Formats: sequence, C-alpha cells, structure tokens
Amino acid sequence: MSTMNPEISLYKEAPLSEPERQYYFMEKAKILIQELVQKAGRPLTFCVTTFGCQMNARDSEKLCGILKNIGYIEQEDEEKADFVIYNTCTVRENANQRVYGRLGQLGKAKKKNPYMIIGLCGCMMQEAEVVEKIKKSYRFVDLIFGTHNIYKFAELIVSRLESQRMIIDIWKDTDKIVEDLPVERKYPFKSGVNIMFGCNNFCSYCIVPYVRGRERSRDPRAIIREIEKLAQDGVVEIMLLGQNVNSYGKTLDEPMSFAQLLQEVEKVDGIERIRFMTSHPKDLSDELIEVMARSEKICRHLHLPVQSGSSRILKKMNRRYTKEQYLALVEKIRKAVPDISLTTDIIVGFPGETEEDFLETMDVVKRVRYDSAFTFIYSKRTGTPAAVMEDQVPPDVIKNRFDRLLKEVQHISSEVCAIHQGTTQTVLVESVNDHEPGMVTGRLSNNLLVHFPGDEKLIGTLVNVYLDECKGFYYIGTRV
Ligand code: SAM
Ligand code: SF4
Repeated sequence: MSTMNPEISLYKEAPLSEPERQYYFMEKAKILIQELVQKAGRPLTFCVTTFGCQMNARDSEKLCGILKNIGYIEQEDEEKADFVIYNTCTVRENANQRVYGRLGQLGKAKKKNPYMIIGLCGCMMQEAEVVEKIKKSYRFVDLIFGTHNIYKFAELIVSRLESQRMIIDIWKDTDKIVEDLPVERKYPFKSGVNIMFGCNNFCSYCIVPYVRGRERSRDPRAIIREIEKLAQDGVVEIMLLGQNVNSYGKTLDEPMSFAQLLQEVEKVDGIERIRFMTSHPKDLSDELIEVMARSEKICRHLHLPVQSGSSRILKKMNRRYTKEQYLALVEKIRKAVPDISLTTDIIVGFPGETEEDFLETMDVVKRVRYDSAFTFIYSKRTGTPAAVMEDQVPPDVIKNRFDRLLKEVQHISSEVCAIHQGTTQTVLVESVNDHEPGMVTGRLSNNLLVHFPGDEKLIGTLVNVYLDECKGFYYIGTRV
C-alpha cells in the first residue's frame, strides 16, 4: 500500500537532471517521514555506521546530510535508531564477516521497532554473492545500494517508503559525479574532500577497482568551490581524498596534475592545513615533491604504501615499481622535505611470498624507518588475479612473519616518534581528552597526537605546543 502524501501530487514529474532530482525526492521524503513521526508520536532517529577507509567516512557524511535534511535526528546507538545504515568495506574478508555478525544483532532490534529501516551500502554491496546472501538470509534488510549511486539515497528512501518492499539498486560502474548535495560533517574544523573516485591500477590482490569502478576526477572548479565553502564554514584543515591522488586530472577534459591542483587549493584563504591520501609510489612526481617542499600549508606527512619490499612480489602484485625505485623515491622526498613523516601499508603473506621476500620487506622497514605502518595479513578476494595464484602461504607462516614485522614496525616507530621531544610544534586542537579532565588533544602537522592542558574553547584552533615527553606513539605537552 502506498503511503504517498496527497500533497505530492502538487509536484509535477521528478526532474531528470541532478542534483535537482534528489532535492525533489528529499522534499517528498520529508513529507513521508513527517507522517511517520506523527504516527509514532516521537521524533525518528538515524545511525550511520562506517566500515573501512576515509572515502567511506566521507560518503557517510553525505548519507548523514540527507537523513538530517529529510527529518531524522542523529542517534549514536544503532540498536535504538529508526534508520540504520551500514556503509560497508570489502577490502579484506574479515570486514565482510563483521557486517554479517552485526546485522544479525540488528535484525533482533528491528523486531521490537516497527519504524526501523535498515540500509546497506558501500563496497561490499558491489559483490553479487553478498547481495544474494542478504536477500536469502537477512530478509529484514530494507535497502541495498552500491558505491556508484550513493547520490540517489533520497530517491531510494522514497521508493522504500512508498513500496514497503526491499529495494536493491546496484550499478556496475558509472562516469557520473553528482555535485552539491547536502553533507553533514563530523568535525566542524576539518573535512575530507573527494578529488577523484575509483581506481585504474588493478593491484593484483585488491578488490577496490572492481567495487569502486574506473578512475574519474572531479572538476577542479567544483573542488575549489567546495573548499572555499568549507573555509567560510570555519574549516581549517582539509584532506584531499582519492585511491591514487597522484594520477588526479588525467581523465579531465582539460588535464591537470595533482601538484597543480594542490597549488590552487593552497590559494584558498582560511585553509591552514592540507593533507592528502593515498599516494601511489609509481605516480609520485618531482613536481609534487617541489610543491610540497615549498608549501606552508601542506602537512609534513606522506602516506606512501609500499605493500612489499621484494621486487619479485611487487611485480606479482602489479605495483609497477621495484624495491630500489621505492627507496630512491623515499630518499628524494627526504632530501627535499627533511622533516617529513612517512607512513605506509604493508601486506604480509601475498601468494608465493618466501622468507627471503619477507626479509626484503623487513629491510625496507629498517631503511625507511616509517613513523608508522599499517600491517595487513593478505586476504584472498574472489575475482582478483591473486586469488587464483598458486603457492598461497600457510596461515601459521603468515602469522609468524606478521608478528615479527609488527614488532619491528612498532620498535622503529616509537624511536622515530621520540625525536620531536623538546621542540615546539603547531597543532590543530581536535578534541577534549575523554580520559583526563582538563586536557585536550591536538594533531601535529606530521600527524602525531599531543595531549596538553586546555579546554574545549581551543577546539578547531591552531596553537603552539611544547612537546615535553614522548609516550611511545603520542606526546604530553604544554601550550606555549
Ligand atoms: N589506494 C590505496 C593504495 O594504493 O594504497 C589504498 C587502498 S586499500 C583500501 C588500503 C590498503 O589495504 C592497501 O594499501 C593494502 O595494503 C590493503 N589491502 C588491499 N587489498 C588487500 C588484501 N586483499 N589483503 C590484505 N590487504 C589488502
Ligand atoms: Fe587497490 Fe592498488 Fe587501487 Fe590502491 S592503487 S585501490 S591498492 S588497486
């Protein structure tokens, strides 16, 4: 039965162009939600749960923007919320398992709340077998959509409310980028900004190109317009987001390099700090290094995933650089920007990885001396070339290597972290410290955290802090 409000008929047909079409559906959804609020006799709430990377976190802010716009109020406890949405990740198998586990719990909560709507979106939904499993075993799910049509969220909500059926809308790929939809930022003073979507690199272990589609860059004018608006809103730090920011601009009608884009972003008044991720080593240009070296605003931090230190494994991974090229790049960056903090991603146990290959990875870790590293156990992703490679490494061997790597990474990173002790650094104050009253937490340009005495009035400001003591991976300091 349709719950459509008769007033809707005042509208003509839904516009075909975007974002106007989505604003039309937001208006329609507002009326439908208002009806539900009246029926329930209380406000309706939402909770968006994010799995995975910064890209997903940014997408979640867009989902929150639409849910707030149509009349839902945010609620932290997902089991008490009336609209729950899981924005999923599928980079590693355990991410999928976590979603299934939590979904079971959510199903029980839904039985007690007739107003509850459960939505699933993000990378995991781009896999056909996942959607089949949900259709079969989690029939209480109301709405499933993927990574390419997230901008259609309002339209899908209306379809769900009008039809009362499970709505599934998954696209294989898209070349569309829809601008200017509402966004609800998590932090008032810092924000992610998508500069591109998708990935064309096809690293042989990685599912991202299959679930996020082909690489496409946003128009630089739209990016700058968004950043100017963020600055007017009080944002001082932005993080430019893309799977490989170094190949930004290649697909534009008027091609532009990432270094050129950064220079435009730097001109925006009010933006004090610029971060970006992720940089693929194969595409990191001299032009970018020069821009970073000269810049007052680009943070002294570069995330440069190495994945493996063995040139043989890097070739099988389709990373398109060798160990030597990677080390030479690190040297060049360090020479141009001596105080740069380097972080990385490393996969242990890629198919065919021998002890010698692993020792090459340990060698890179010891030579580069990363400020920190994300270490991952290789996870077999169906559909990727690596999944059908021979010589999958036994779990006990992987575990042993993983533990040795983690120990080394942590040992080095505690030493590297300590070198700033006794210096004064500018930090962006991000939060009050939950554990210690009277303390706040700030982030250094190099991404390290420092706790120091202060109150919430400081949040969102840049202040100078003396780093008194290194506590392993963070500092205790005093405001100067
Ligand atoms: N585009 C980014 C890049 O090239 O570094 C990162 C994308 S991915 C979401 C983040 C990290 O997950 C990768 O750098 C890689 O280390 C890890 N990863 C991707 N696929 C994996 C797999 N199948 N098993 C284990 N780790 C994986
Ligand atoms: Fe995955 Fe490689 Fe693309 Fe990063 S660059 S998203 S690791 S395929």
